Amino acid sequence: MKNSILFLFLLFLSFTAFSQTKVSILGDSYSTFTGHISPQTNEPWYPRSADENDVTEVEQTWWRLLIDNHKDELVLEKNNSYSGATISCHGYNNADYSHRSYITRSLDLGNPDMILIFGATNDSWAGAPMGEYKFSDWTKSDIFFFRPAMAMLLSQMKTLYPRQDIYFILNSELKDEINESICTICRNYSVPVITLKDIDKQAGHPSQQGMKSIAEQVWSAIKKVQPKYIALSFDDGPNTVTTPKVLDVLEENGVTASFFVNGKYLDNEENIAVMQRAVALGCDIQNHSYSHYQMGDFEDEALINEEIDKTSALIEKYAGKKPEFFRPPYINHSELMHKLIDLTFICGRSFNDWDPGFDADARINAILTTVIDGDILLLHDMQGNDATVEALKVVIPELKKRGFVFVTVPQLFKEVRGSMPETHSGIIYSNIFD
Ligand SMILES: [Zn+2]
Repeated sequence: MKNSILFLFLLFLSFTAFSQTKVSILGDSYSTFTGHISPQTNEPWYPRSADENDVTEVEQTWWRLLIDNHKDELVLEKNNSYSGATISCHGYNNADYSHRSYITRSLDLGNPDMILIFGATNDSWAGAPMGEYKFSDWTKSDIFFFRPAMAMLLSQMKTLYPRQDIYFILNSELKDEINESICTICRNYSVPVITLKDIDKQAGHPSQQGMKSIAEQVWSAIKKVQPKYIALSFDDGPNTVTTPKVLDVLEENGVTASFFVNGKYLDNEENIAVMQRAVALGCDIQNHSYSHYQMGDFEDEALINEEIDKTSALIEKYAGKKPEFFRPPYINHSELMHKLIDLTFICGRSFNDWDPGFDADARINAILTTVIDGDILLLHDMQGNDATVEALKVVIPELKKRGFVFVTVPQLFKEVRGSMPETHSGIIYSNIFD
């Protein structure tokens, strides 16, 4: 008894820890404080003498206020801010600021979930030349102009941090052409802009009051966090024992999922009826081959085609829709299969939920500590897999609480990602951002 209470307590602690969003800051003087920026070779601006600026403690900075006021939700990963830094490499007095530019420092932000870019103030003050809008093929000389440099920064960050929530914080009182350029370029890369208003400043830098106001404005923008999307998917059904239990949990929680079925189980009315109940609940049916062989070892093209085509035909006949996705049994796939099979290959994040050695608690812990935005969760509704049914009862409500929205695999690609991947690409997807 004691042990199980301790276990629940530890589980609670681990949920709390994992539900915090790790925040990294990429900033200029506004976000510095001596001894609290990284790398430590970065130049700070704060603190100053009290008659110059009344921010004298790190606890008074906007970024510490933001984190400290929302400790349950946020934790600082890294603050890479540098006084006087510019987005482009063009610094004050035409100096080359490559070493402190945002482009250079964006490579060094740790492993965050969210990135707050707070910049362009020095570009505005230093009179960086604006240049033309340019969204690809940047040259070394381009990045001395604000617009191409800003575009290159966001392009690079979207590549480096594809799954992170990135925001741009826009200072008040900057030049109009800087404001307009930031909004245009951020829109192009789907980076939300947090436009600050009425920031009290001393010596051109936020005062205590200004810092407080920045923290509040940033928080009210980021708390409307865009939903994160995941898809539950189940292999090796349908059957009349476990699939209905999985469907019960989905129905109770009002969520849908994708079922990758084996054609061989569609040989009797009872199983077909279970599959049709899944369809009626809004779930979709995809292809997991007919026989569940190690297909990656097959050299016979006809045999591969038969495994796929027979199953797709049965799905179309009984579920009313042709499958668009395929999960190779045992994730054993070959170049030949990618060449022949006209479906998008799916793997998914696995939690060993076919292994009786992993009980429901182990599965819950594995899922809740690893799932990220855009994931496809690889699970099994094979006969007798009650540990997964039990795990789902905990995992679905908890992930909903964390802001995850459950969609099917087709919805994840068509609606969230915005497009179906090309077939025969050789890619097997576990996350839509793969
Ligand atoms: Zn399987």
